[in-house]
Amino acid sequence: MKDLLVMKFGGTSVGSAARMRVAVRLSAEQQKKRPIVMVVSAMSGITDLLIETTKHAEAGDRAGLEANVRKLEQRHHEACKELLPRAAQKPVLAGIRQLVGEFQRIVQGMLMLNDRPPRSVDEAIAIGERLSALMIAACLNAQGTKAEAVNAAELIVTDAVFGSASPLMKQTTEKARQRLIPLIRRGVLPVVTGFNGATADGRPTTLGRGGSDFSASILSAALRARELWIWTDVDGIMTADPRLVPDAAVLSEVTYREAAELAYNGAKVLHPRTLAPLVESHIPVWSKNSFSPEKPGTKIVPRIAAPTGARAVTSTARVALVSLEPAHATLPGAHVMARALDAMAGANVEVLSLSSSSYRQSFCFLVRSEELEKTLEALESALALELAHGYLRPIDVNNEVGLLAVVGEGMQGTPGLAGRIFTAISRERINIIAIAQGSSELTIAIVVRRDGLETAVRAVHAECGMGRPREGKSRRPVPGHKPKHKS
Ligand code: ADP
Ligand code: ASP
Ligand code: MG
Repeated sequence: MKDLLVMKFGGTSVGSAARMRVAVRLSAEQQKKRPIVMVVSAMSGITDLLIETTKHAEAGDRAGLEANVRKLEQRHHEACKELLPRAAQKPVLAGIRQLVGEFQRIVQGMLMLNDRPPRSVDEAIAIGERLSALMIAACLNAQGTKAEAVNAAELIVTDAVFGSASPLMKQTTEKARQRLIPLIRRGVLPVVTGFNGATADGRPTTLGRGGSDFSASILSAALRARELWIWTDVDGIMTADPRLVPDAAVLSEVTYREAAELAYNGAKVLHPRTLAPLVESHIPVWSKNSFSPEKPGTKIVPRIAAPTGARAVTSTARVALVSLEPAHATLPGAHVMARALDAMAGANVEVLSLSSSSYRQSFCFLVRSEELEKTLEALESALALELAHGYLRPIDVNNEVGLLAVVGEGMQGTPGLAGRIFTAISRERINIIAIAQGSSELTIAIVVRRDGLETAVRAVHAECGMGRPREGKSRRPVPGHKPKHKS
């Protein structure tokens, strides 16, 4: 749709009545200039609360469940009273009560069964986004901007992988256009829930934690939006997580590939799958700070003119390293690797990085901690015979690791960069456990001991001169730049 702007607001950007008001103001301002679709997250902390409640239910903890349901109702009730003029509160408070009741019924079912089936979990946790969409739409209406809350289960058609569903773009495009375009044409601003969808036969799904970014990009592609703005709580995509690296700098532009590599390797600022739906349509994405909306933010674009060396470093501690090693040469390593990867693909496990030793025919790969159990089950079943007969050594798991990734389109053209990065890490006496460099040479992924991860990130950030310039110092980045070190 010509000129359409999709604006997504994350949990902190709608985390209180005051933040919702800002989101409403920013959207209403844009709505005067062009058509807008809003995509909203649950209020910050709510998805965690909902998930914890389902766990209380499974564990038979009725008191914990009830306390959480009260918290859920109270937080939204209070925010609603603060957000809306008295006259507009009644139907919204009733809506909140109804959604909280819906949540309560689902978790009570779990309590009775002592189980939390993934399908019911998805239905339950999408209620966070439905609550915030309800309140934000009401606030827009109260301020004179016509708006309607829309449940994305009506728009985004997904497969049935509960907890991490993928969109079926053709059906989604049809449904989203059918439902949203008439609203937009009538001048109504749709406030769509992030994070959720439904299978073609109507079973509720979610897109994975942090998935509202993904919802927004799916809808941007479906509606052929002009731009997507993702409003968050930092000034854009930065050279590192500012919580770990105080002098991290904002990048004014990054490519789709850089942003995707950063996200896949732990940069929480974007959901890893956000860019995928946009690559073909080349819809630009902005990452902006709703706490400082006047700042330009980061533009994510298909290409940048003159890419310079290493641009950002990211890390994640929630990973595990799984190693497989044949006990003797009769079992070829490549054969084991093929079977293992096939088993993991079948179990929907994502391999974050992979490295192998041709001499020992062994190989190791990195998976997300939350997928470790699934990984081991898949491997143990696929390689049961080899393990039982001792052709394969017992599967080794190292949980004490972290992944660091250095990303930049221009790294390929910077000689000696990898060596400098490894030296910077070793200088801090941090052992490098595994290294993987993708064939694209866009990313160098390094596995280190978890207790050295944060130090390693800071060391690499400093070595590559990624930080903000200090007073009186000249501006970088200079690709070959090498700062002086204390010896
Ligand atoms: P939202 O709730 O808006 O979706 P998130 O908490 O998911 O926001 O993502 C924003 C957070 O991502 C920031 O507060 C920041 O700490 C973290 N982050 C991690 N890596 C980066 C990075 N490279 N650039 C910017 N922020 C990052
Ligand atoms: N509310 C969901 C979560 O916390 C989705 C999101 O915020 O993007 O994971
Ligand atoms: Mg997020």
